[in-house]
Parts: sequence; C-alpha cells; structure tokens
Amino acid sequence: MVLKSRWSFDIPQVSLPTYLFDSPTADLPKTPALISAKDPEKYYLSIHTYRLYGQRLAAGLLRAGLKPGERVLLFSGNTLFFPTVMIGIIMAGGIYTGANPTYVARELAYQLKDSGAKYLLCAEGSIDTGIAAAQEAGLPASSVFVFDDGVATFEGRTVEKHAPALGGTIRHWTTLLASEAEGRAYAWPDLRTPAELDTVIALNYSSGTTGLAKGVMITHKNYVSNSAQQMWMSMISADYEERRARVRHLCFLPMYHALSQSVFCVNAPKMRLPVYVMPKFDFVEMLQYIQAYRITDLVLVPPVIVAMAKHPAVKKFDLSSVEKVGSGAAPLGREIAEEFEKLWADRSVNVKQGWGMTELTCAATTSDPNKISRDGAVGELLPNCEAKIVLDDEGKVEAPQGERGEVWVRAPNVMKGYWRKPEATAETITADGWLKTGDIAYVDEENEFHVVDRKKVRSLAAPLVFPPNTTVGRGTADKNQELIKVKGLQVAPAELEALLLDHPAVQDVAVIGVMLSGEELPRAYIVPQTPTQATPQVAETIKAWLAERVSRAKRLDGGVVFVEAIPKNPSGKILRRELREKAQAEAAGA
Ligand code: AMP
Repeated sequence: MVLKSRWSFDIPQVSLPTYLFDSPTADLPKTPALISAKDPEKYYLSIHTYRLYGQRLAAGLLRAGLKPGERVLLFSGNTLFFPTVMIGIIMAGGIYTGANPTYVARELAYQLKDSGAKYLLCAEGSIDTGIAAAQEAGLPASSVFVFDDGVATFEGRTVEKHAPALGGTIRHWTTLLASEAEGRAYAWPDLRTPAELDTVIALNYSSGTTGLAKGVMITHKNYVSNSAQQMWMSMISADYEERRARVRHLCFLPMYHALSQSVFCVNAPKMRLPVYVMPKFDFVEMLQYIQAYRITDLVLVPPVIVAMAKHPAVKKFDLSSVEKVGSGAAPLGREIAEEFEKLWADRSVNVKQGWGMTELTCAATTSDPNKISRDGAVGELLPNCEAKIVLDDEGKVEAPQGERGEVWVRAPNVMKGYWRKPEATAETITADGWLKTGDIAYVDEENEFHVVDRKKVRSLAAPLVFPPNTTVGRGTADKNQELIKVKGLQVAPAELEALLLDHPAVQDVAVIGVMLSGEELPRAYIVPQTPTQATPQVAETIKAWLAERVSRAKRLDGGVVFVEAIPKNPSGKILRRELREKAQAEAAGA
C-alpha cells in the first residue's frame, strides 16, 4: 500500500532566491537574522544583508566569468557568510557544493575533481589543506580564495596567502564581490517553468547506499519544496503564532551538511527567525550560549543528546528557555531521550525526531508538533510525500502495516540524481520516481515511521562507480557497503577499506560500525599479512596510519580486530551482518 501524507498543499513554484527573499528589490527586515554567537552585538547579518551579499557575490562571479551550471566549492566551518556564499553562487546560476571542513587534502581533492569545481573558497585556518587539494585537482592560485571566519570581511580587510605551489597568490573572497550598488541592481533570473525549477543548484556530497561520496543533485524545486514542507509542520503547531516573536535558534551543526543547511541557511531565514551561529560544535560553549541568548529551539543529533543527558556540567547551566528540541541524522533511543527530557523538571520539553537523508534534500518525516512523542518514532510523512515499505529489490512486494521493510519515498524533495553517475542514480531512483532509501522501517497504526535498521547493502546490478584515478587497492575491496554514521556524519566503509588495503600489514579488511557507549564508530576487521602481526602494537600503527589520511569521523575509534579470514559469500561479498553479530557477541561477553 502506498502511504500518503495526510497533508498536501501547493508548493511555491519559484526559485530558491525568490522563495527566500521575495524579489531582488523587495523590502526586507534589517534586524539581526544570522548572528555571531561569539560577538552578537558586533557581527550579524539581517535578511536584507543576507540577500545583498548574495547579490554582490553573484554579480562578481558573473563578472569573473562564471557560466551557468559551473561549480563553486566552499570548504569552511560555519560563518555568517556561509549562507551568503551559497545563495550568491545560486543567484549567479552556478552550482554550490560544500565540503566537510574537517576533510584532509585527499578528501577535498576528490570532491574538487568529482564536482569539477571552477573555484574553491577555502577557510583561512585550512588554507594549507586547500592549497594541497587545489594542486592535486589542478586549480591555479587565481581560482582559490581565502574565506575568513567573518571578522576580516566585516572589518573590510582582505586576507591573502602566497601559494608558490599554485603559482601565485590566493586572494580574499571579498575581492570577488561586486560593489553594493552593483549588488542592489543585480536581479537573479526569474525562473517559473518546471524545467527551469528543475535546474541543479547544489551538490551535497553523500555516499548514499553504496560506495564513495557522490554529489547529490539538489534543484530549486527540491530546496523550496522541502523547506515549505518543513515550515508547514512548524506552522500547524498550536502555539506557532504565540511563539513566533521569541523563537531563537542556535546553529552548531555543520552547514555543509543537508540538515544544518536546510534548517539554518534556508528555513529559519525564510521564517525570519534569528539564528545564533557557532563556527563548530563545542559542548560547553553550546550550553553557555543557550543560557546567554535564551535559545528556545534546538536542532540536535543523538550524540549531543547523549552528552547532554549524561554530562554533570549541564546542570550548572540555565536551560529554562528551551521549548522545542528536534533530533535527526541518526537513531535515538527513547530511553536516552527521556533521560534528556528530565533536564527540564516539569518535563515540558519533548524530543521530536525527524528522519531524512541528503538525497531527500533534508527530511521526509517529522513528528506532529501537537503530539507528545513517547516512543522512538521519527514522525509522519511531510506534506506532499508518498512512501512505501517494500520487501524486495524491485519494490513489488509491499510489507503489511506494522512490518519491516525498506522505505521508498516519492516526493518533490527527492534529489534529481547523483552528479555524473547515471548508474548510481538508476540504482537509487526507479523510473517512476521512487527513491530507495536503504533504511529499514515499519509504520505503526498512527502512520508514524520507526527506523529500525539500515539496509544500505545492495546486490549491485550496475558496477560500483569509483571516481577516475581511484585505486581500489589490492585484495577484495567489496562492493557492497553499509553506511556508518559517526556523530551524524557519514562514513563509507568502501573508502576506509580501499585505503587500509594499501597498508603493508593488511592482507584483507572489512569495516563496520560498532556501538560503543551509545555511539556508532568505525571498526576494522583485518587479516594481517602474517599471523605474527596480529598484535596491539600493529593495530595502533594501523590506526595512526589511517588517521593521517582521513578526517576525524573516519578514524578507527571502534578499534582494530585481527581475524583469520573475512566472512564472505561465494561471490566474494563481505558478510557484514556476521561481523556485526560477532561485534555484538564480543560486547555482550565483555
Ligand atoms: P545523511 O544523508 O548524512 O543525512 O544520512 C542519512 C541517513 O541517516 C539515513 O538514511 C538514515 O540511515 C540516517 N538517519 C537520519 N535520520 C535518522 C533518524 N531519525 N533515525 C535513524 N536514522 C536516521
């Protein structure tokens, strides 16, 4: 049975800039909207200046020669100018792509090459990584720009960096900006037709159900739909009007990721709700800012909820301003949610889960704001969404109500496809528009979804698409993957396995996610080249070796375990489930 959302409405048929700002010249609020949590009096942008910086960047990029559909990569933590860069690229007709700010040069170079980015805007603090990656991707110094944390930009300073490896000097990103007058005069294209609104405006990288990171193509229609769908769910809240004037958000989740990007760069600005922006997550600072700015709404991921539930320091802060808490990006147990809710003695705060994925722009379900969540449900389908729970790869056998199967979604927020990967797209979206999410769920009598597992494993009909020049390594790097989520961030086993196979002590390897103290972490099961290498010292060497080559979330914090053989089926596919069961048995016996 196809499940339909109980709501539907007419989604605005406009481009993302028009959706956010009404028009290039409309009167917009000049009150603080994106606010520096560190120095709120001095550094903030209003909705008016958010648009103006976007227009200035768009006019400047076009003057510099950016052509429609060309990609610009932003490699940075959160700053007030992150959303302005994103929207400026889109206003110019380009395609924005944001990279995880903790990436090492190899990872960044991969995204630069895969997206074919024409320009790189690189955080000042990561400039050496940016230079190394640009060199590998063949970008000259004239295509790379320093992106400061906002302070230099506000102060009108320009920061440069001499980069002999790129044959010149890297200019400050503000040298790309047109003047204020030119910005004000810049009118982004007024797109209306379905084909125009189907133009790709962002590549959000995700490993999806298989393989390495791929560019998820997000269109105007996708962003506008998903934002309008999520806003709808806020607006049906019985206290929506009454709360509006006092709502304040705090953003510490990384804006390059679909969740933070949707909520803080699009939804909150569209609703004209102020967002205090932190450059990155810091537990104590987060608590200080909730107290100092009387934050009302929190968008969290499970590890933060766990930390808040368990950490004694939390009790020292006044969190009484908090009214609404959302959680997404990874599973959250009800017990831990209840422990967290006890921070508010009157139990007035109720954690509401949402579920989604990069391929769904951000979300496909959220919890009804007028209902109290008391089990682990991730909510109901957003307006204008359809879903089915299927038991087979073709989607022909549907699970009866209450039974588990893979969730397929058909909705206006389903991505257009994977960038330059038609086989992967065909594997993931059916001809009639169903997105195979790879998540296993059931739907209860109240039409609420319960995500219970991840499939994320396919018998690939199409070959796994590795990017050009990627060596899979020696041995039997398997082509069936299972996504691991570390603190809400994606880790693809394929990538770690391919790297580890290049280590001299590794004969074969499989990487899975294991749960340790309520967190999912990557663990490598390794067959050593010789049995004598199966020692704690070699394990540490391998962990350290990998840590030099990957960003933080991908380190083997779940450990290295030596085994005699990797369990595989006759065609050589890793039997990850066996390894997971082994890990569970080990944990139970420990
Ligand atoms: P990403 O594309 O990085 O947002 O990752 C999407 C994946 O995160 C989904 O396919 C799920 O496996 C997982 N996920 C997101 N939200 C939830 C949730 N509320 N509960 C369980 N898993 C979730």
